Amino acid sequence: MAVPLFDPSTPLQPLRDELHAAVARVLDGGAFVLGPEVAAFEEEFARAVGARHAIGVANGTEAITVALRGLGVGPGDDVVVPSFTFYASAEAIVNAGARPVFCDVDPRTYVATADHVRAALTPATKAVVLVHLFGNVAPVREVEALGLPVLEDAAQAAGTTGPDGAPGAIGTVGTFSFYPSKNLGAFGDGGAITTSDDELAETIRVLRFHGSRDKVGYERVGFNSRLDEVQAAVLRVQLPHLPAWAAHRAQAGRWYAEAGLDAHAALPDPTPGATPAWHLFVVRAPDSDRMAQRLAEAGIGCRPYYRVPVHRQPPMREFAGGVELPGTEEAARAHLAIPISAAITREQVGEVVAAFAPHAG
Ligand SMILES: *Cc1c(COP(=O)(O)O)cnc(C)c1O
Repeated sequence: MAVPLFDPSTPLQPLRDELHAAVARVLDGGAFVLGPEVAAFEEEFARAVGARHAIGVANGTEAITVALRGLGVGPGDDVVVPSFTFYASAEAIVNAGARPVFCDVDPRTYVATADHVRAALTPATKAVVLVHLFGNVAPVREVEALGLPVLEDAAQAAGTTGPDGAPGAIGTVGTFSFYPSKNLGAFGDGGAITTSDDELAETIRVLRFHGSRDKVGYERVGFNSRLDEVQAAVLRVQLPHLPAWAAHRAQAGRWYAEAGLDAHAALPDPTPGATPAWHLFVVRAPDSDRMAQRLAEAGIGCRPYYRVPVHRQPPMREFAGGVELPGTEEAARAHLAIPISAAITREQVGEVVAAFAPHAG
């Protein structure tokens, strides 16, 4: 039986009526951008994350750019970022006017350690972007102890919990994506910025709307980066279910371990004390490409995401210099995402593991 790599639609089936009603409410209300649904979602999402403020923006990439600008990052500044991540984590730094400085990751957890960040610091470092990659938790507190503000890129970690709180509530500021395939997905693009710093929240609110408080006077060069009402309304329907969906993703990770997958591939190490809501379940094997072929032949959805790490992508080479990142190279070479979702069954996990065995039929 085929098992899809992800399954965003099954968990939404029981919510169809509520989702339709939410969309109809917006159409009938006639407010489409930054209206009552966005305001309500911002409050509800902030509470869910455990931050004082959430600010809806257009997508998870602009969330990073706007948050960096809110921190005062701009031309002449360096921002440390891991290279083993989605391209947007670094692209957003360039679009804020700053220079990304790439750091390594631990291939067992896929996140950067404080040592990796320390090795990348320069006299011009103004902030650090830590990525909670695949839903695992990066060591925000340890990196903050280096004396720099930490922006948490939590695009893949909605629903994850950790020893120091949830991603998005640990560092100075957190960013989320509501791209449809993420743990909490809209019906289009969307994003949010979270922070417990009142002043920073106010600055970010001004920045997301052209640098204006009243739409008449303009105090900064900002952005048009807004969450719309339809997306906020459908996100509000889904948000109460995020904890259960996250628990299911974490449980599926444990099912893979219990089914003996570690005999065939290295499983991701959850950060101690964390319950990762695995956005992607990413294993490592020396022959990952051959393994991918075998799984595909058995109808198992799988793919590598970051074979060429960000610092080796052509537009980033001017920032990367000759940096050597052995953990990143190891992760890039060996990683393979296999099926996970809020709806995957224990039987499906068993089928995936069976397909790893050399003579799986
Ligand atoms: C998805 C993602 C983003 C960007 O989010 P968009 O909403 O697609 O712009 C940024 N960082 C990471 C780690 C992501 O996975």
